[in-house]
Order: sequence, then structure tokens, then C-alpha cells
Amino acid sequence: MLFRSAGIFVALLTMACLTSAAQAATLVYASRLIDGRSPQPLTDVTLVIDAGKILEVATGFVPPKDGDRVVDLRRYTVVPGLMDMHTHLMSQHSKDSYTERFFMEESDYALRSTVYARVTLMAGFTTVRELGDNGINSVSLRKAIDEGWIVGPRIFTAGKSIATTGGHADPTNGLKGKFREDADPVDGVVNGQDDARKAVRQRYKDGADLIKLTATGGVLSLAASGQNPQFTSEELQAIVQTARDYNMTVAVHAHGAEGMKRAVLAGVDSIEHGTYMTDEIIELMKQRNTFWVPTNMAGEWVAKKAEEPGYFPEIVRPKAAAIGPAIRDTFKRAYKAGVQIAFGTDSGVSSHGENAHEFELMVEGGMSPMEAIRSATFTASRLLKVEDRLGALLPGMIADVVAVEGNPLENISAMRTVVFVMKDGKIYREP
Ligand SMILES: [Zn+2]
Repeated sequence: MLFRSAGIFVALLTMACLTSAAQAATLVYASRLIDGRSPQPLTDVTLVIDAGKILEVATGFVPPKDGDRVVDLRRYTVVPGLMDMHTHLMSQHSKDSYTERFFMEESDYALRSTVYARVTLMAGFTTVRELGDNGINSVSLRKAIDEGWIVGPRIFTAGKSIATTGGHADPTNGLKGKFREDADPVDGVVNGQDDARKAVRQRYKDGADLIKLTATGGVLSLAASGQNPQFTSEELQAIVQTARDYNMTVAVHAHGAEGMKRAVLAGVDSIEHGTYMTDEIIELMKQRNTFWVPTNMAGEWVAKKAEEPGYFPEIVRPKAAAIGPAIRDTFKRAYKAGVQIAFGTDSGVSSHGENAHEFELMVEGGMSPMEAIRSATFTASRLLKVEDRLGALLPGMIADVVAVEGNPLENISAMRTVVFVMKDGKIYREP
């Protein structure tokens, strides 16, 4: 009996080996490949991809074996799947956004988000960090994408942002008294350290991957200040400590300096926007390895819309006009000073699918095209703590591969002409 079982085992093993030897790989030919790590592009290489992973980056163009699929991208530039560290896939801002929320169901938002998710992936962004929605729609979106119900990027979501009463992400700001109810930690509104801890635990319970909080006022909320500090240092520390207990990182919306400084000192992982970043904060961020996600696109977009009469409510318009353009100078200064910059667009403020415009603004701000691409690959992967599997085209990495027309190292606008998208080894878009 024992011999017979062993015999069957050997036969099965042989069959398994034969099957795997015959299993088809995908061979991606690239004449110019930016791998996300090397300072220079590689030339004339083949990515050998199997079971969603990169097996090898081979020199030259590997001839296919039986059943292998060849994807010839030699006319294009091949880059790692791009990573946007600041999106809002649940919505897209319009003149009607402030009133729509009274008429749209959560399911309406959720259905629209499936369209935004698709255009984001087709624009070459295979991974996004989703920084705040109304509730837990983004958790459902992440699940639906992971399970293959719909097409979209890999999502790391914060769920609902955490704010203080009247703060930038308090959902009842600006409403008439009847609707201006006292939101609680479950809705992401906290006052004091116990509330702060509860709000983090609630995000964990909701299925969020990380924490987002709004440390200062913001442009688009119906509130007077776009930059006042809105958390005490103790509240920020309570959030960061609790987030660590649950292995979550903390992303912090901040425009004004005082709230930003308190957040950096509390040990958060990233500052979003960072509009009025002082030299002192720049130094603190460098010492503490705090990432900066500048979202130049959001600044540009709100400044432009502020010029359209009647686009914004009057409580928002002056904030948009003043805060929007300020990010340009901050970017130049903080980049030169050496803050580590991860790519992020705040898409959902501007339209989804236009994410690559941020590359152009970063290069305008003084970055080299290679550094800008690296901010959306290697640096972003470090912010998400997934640099062992995403953000580079190296053996063992997840096969997220994008190709663009032309050479982005000569003209960064090439990043907007995506012709090929592969996520987890599966092709979603081809020339
Ligand atoms: Zn945002």
C-alpha cells in the first residue's frame, strides 16, 4: 500500500513538473525600459512574466517557447505600473458636488466609482492610495476589484478621513442647523484622545488599510479657514500610536504650518499638500523620513476654478484662489531642500484619469523626469511599505507593467500617452 501511494506520488510529481515546464509565459519586449530603481533606462530587454510575477529581466529578446505569448513594446517606453498616493475614487468634483450629496445614495457614489476606477487603471495607475470617502465605499470597491467583479487599480484605502468638530472632513460642515448634527468617531469626527483612538479602531474594523486625517483646514470644505490647526498634539499622538498597534500608516492633510508641524512631530508617515511648509518643517521631515505628497494638480485645479464666477460657494472661493497657487513655490523650495516626494494627484478634485499631468507639474517644479517617475514607483512603494513587491520591474516583483508612447525622459508629457497596462500579469490595455 505504502509503495503504491509512493508510486502515485512520484507520477503526480512528474506530471506537475511537466505541466509547469509547459506552462506559457508572457514575454514583454522592450527597447527602452525604466525599471524604477536604476538611474538609467535599460535597453533591449525581455520581461519574462508568469503567474502574475516577473520571473526574469533578460538581456535581449528571448525567443518564445511553445505557448508563450509575446508582447512587443519595442516602439514604446516601458515603466513599472504607476502609483498615485492620493486619490478620491468615490467622487469627482463639480459645481454640483455640494448639493448632490443630498440627492445621491451611497450606491450612486459606489457605481460612479467603478467608472473612475477603470479610467485610473487605463491611465497606467495600477496602484492607488485612496485618501478619504464618505464611508466605506472604497473598501467595497477594493474588494470588488480584487475579486475581479470590476476593473480598477489595486487600492490601499483610508476609508473615511478623521477630523475634529468643524474640521476639514467633518461631514456636516456648513449645513443648516437641522442637518448640522454632532458627528462622532464612527463618522470620523473626534475630540480628545479617547475619541481619536476609537476612530482609528473603527477604521480598522471597517476594513481600511491606513489612516487619513485632516490636521488643518482645507480648501473645499464649507468652513472659513483653509489652514488653521485642527488637532491637538495629544490627539495626533493618540492616532499615530493606535494606528501603529494595527500596523497602519497615517496620511495627513495639511496646508497651514502649525498643524503640519504638530503632525510631523507626532510621527505621521506622510504630509498631503503641505502648502505652507516652512524651512523648519522641511528639516523636521528630513530628519524623520516623513514623505511629502504635494498634489500640485489639486492646487492648480482649485486656483483655476476660483476664477470661474459662481463655481465655488463664496466661503470656498477665496481659499481656493489663495491656497491653490502657493503650492508651486513650496514644491520648488522643498524639492531643492531634499524632502522625499511621493507622487499624488488628489484626483477626484480634478478629473480621474488625468493623473499623469502631475508628472508635468513636478518637472516644471524642478524635478528630472526620471525622479518624477521614481516618485510614482519606488518612492510610492516605500510609502506603502510594499517595495518588496511593487514599484519596480525586477525579478520576483508583481507584474504591473505600463508602456507609453515616446520617451518621457526627453518629454515628460509622454507619461500621458499610455498604450499598454498590465496589472498582476493580466493585460488590460494594449496598443
Ligand atoms: Zn484629498
